[in-house]
Amino acid sequence: MPVTRYAIAIGSNRPGRHGPPEAMVRAAIAALGPVVAVSRFFATAPVGPSSRRFVNATLILDSAESPRALLDRLKRIERDFGRRPGRRWGARVIDLDIVLWSGGVWTDSALTVPHRAFRARRFVLDPMATLVPAWRDPVTGLTVRQLLARARAVDRRPRRS
Ligand code: ATP
Ligand code: MG
Ligand code: MG
Repeated sequence: MPVTRYAIAIGSNRPGRHGPPEAMVRAAIAALGPVVAVSRFFATAPVGPSSRRFVNATLILDSAESPRALLDRLKRIERDFGRRPGRRWGARVIDLDIVLWSGGVWTDSALTVPHRAFRARRFVLDPMATLVPAWRDPVTGLTVRQLLARARAVDRRPRRS
């Protein structure tokens, strides 16, 4: 079976059975099995209706699983960790998203890779750029480093009132 490389974004902003968000992220990484690399943990201001601070990290995983099989495994881990379906951006004990994979673009009824929103998310791009800055997004043709530079420029733009 050909081995595929995945970049996975992890986030938590609620304590769960393994402890505070940092411990939830650490336990999720352990549950994934052997990984190639893990970023440091980033503390991130919340997005959306939740007011809790997030802990975010990115990891690189090599696997023979298809993106769909990997998504099913990620969802199983989320469930085992106590994630309840609910408001999309609300408080969650763990979130595991597939950001990129080495196979290019994948779309099925439950899954889009590259992740639809990752290009605008500093909490994904910052940790990812520490691991795989040269990885190219197949949709825009830009590297992770370039996407981060673009997202930083947007953050710096003066706001109009
Ligand atoms: P967001 O996707 O904006 O980060 P979220 O992670 O909070 O929001 P979830 O509730 O975790 O959203 O997932 C909702 C659904 O998104 C999942 O059930 C899954 O089928 C789908 N999905 C589509 N693309 C992806 C992807 N690349 N990684 C993970 N889930 C995805
Ligand atoms: Mg998410
Ligand atoms: Mg998710």
